[in-house]
Amino acid sequence: MVITLETTASDAVVEAVFRLAARYEGVTPKKHVFQGVGERLVEVHLVGSTRQVPTEPFEALDGVLSVVRVSTRYRVIGRHGTDDGTRGFDYNGVRFGRDQVHLFAGLCAVDTRPHVDETLAVLASHGLQTTRMGAYKPRTSPYEFQGLGSECLPWVFELAGKHGIRVVAMEVTDARHIDEIKTALERAGRPTGVMLQIGTRNTQNFELLKHVGRQSEFPVLFKRGMGITIEESLNACEYVASEGNPNIVFCLRGVKSNLGDPHRNLVDFAHVPVILRQTRLVVCVDPSHSVGRKDATPDGVPDIFHVTGQGIIAGATMVLVDFHPYPEVALCDGPQALTLDQLPKLLGYVRTVREAYEKAVTIVNAS
Ligand code: PEP
Ligand code: MN
Repeated sequence: MVITLETTASDAVVEAVFRLAARYEGVTPKKHVFQGVGERLVEVHLVGSTRQVPTEPFEALDGVLSVVRVSTRYRVIGRHGTDDGTRGFDYNGVRFGRDQVHLFAGLCAVDTRPHVDETLAVLASHGLQTTRMGAYKPRTSPYEFQGLGSECLPWVFELAGKHGIRVVAMEVTDARHIDEIKTALERAGRPTGVMLQIGTRNTQNFELLKHVGRQSEFPVLFKRGMGITIEESLNACEYVASEGNPNIVFCLRGVKSNLGDPHRNLVDFAHVPVILRQTRLVVCVDPSHSVGRKDATPDGVPDIFHVTGQGIIAGATMVLVDFHPYPEVALCDGPQALTLDQLPKLLGYVRTVREAYEKAVTIVNAS
């Protein structure tokens, strides 16, 4: 059962809900806070044997906005009742929601300071404040480049600050990495922010999910599992939210199957509407790890652009995409990295498709 409080409700209302919940055996109340622009939404979730718990006494409490019975699935990330699913969140001055598109363009794996500097300078020149920079790389082979790890964090954060980048998406593969990122950010004077990325190989690493869920300093970019169903991925994502961190972006990145050949993965962006419908989450697409190559159609448009468009036209509002100033020397995923001269083209492409999406929604909803 989800009890949503009025935005003006004080802590006394939360206490009253907890007191009332204590009257019912086998029911545990848990408070969840969703922070938006100038608005803080508080919910109390009753977990356990709630079937016998009536909704009316909770509805009668002053300061309670609504009480909704929910199935045990996706209790926090799911949409329930009349929830319009557009909550989103703010982080470090950037609004993540379903109304604004953010391009997280950057290096798959950080390699050298000059490459990071050059990339971020170009992003900044196009007004971007978001990037991707992998420091901890989960690789298929132990003999491949594993990422520079914590040693690169001081200068990555310093350069991000220098170029006005507000959010860096960075994968963590171990709970230790969260502390390393936190420490490096503090030492650097917090020049930027970080969105913790859970990679597809760790989608069901439940202990790691609990760790990123227990902290609320950083939002989480959660990749779907490449070999599991959407339902399994959403249940895994719920681990993050149920631990207390609701600031999550759900990212589609293709699934493993030879049926996707010659692409690296079978592109699954047809699931964008499914995630938008079933959850409150912001939805991201990763065209780089889906397609894995830079070929273009005879009209000159690269496959990576085409699938980005497929995600945006379906309502995705975030794109995670690999760029490298010199893909031929990239230490990870060079074959799928776009070059910096392609950035304004991708930006123009994304803007055009987003406008088409907005027009299309108007057409479909016209009476
Ligand atoms: C990545 O984005 O760097 C990455 C490794 O992606 P995925 O986890 O989707 O393979
Ligand atoms: Mn990669």
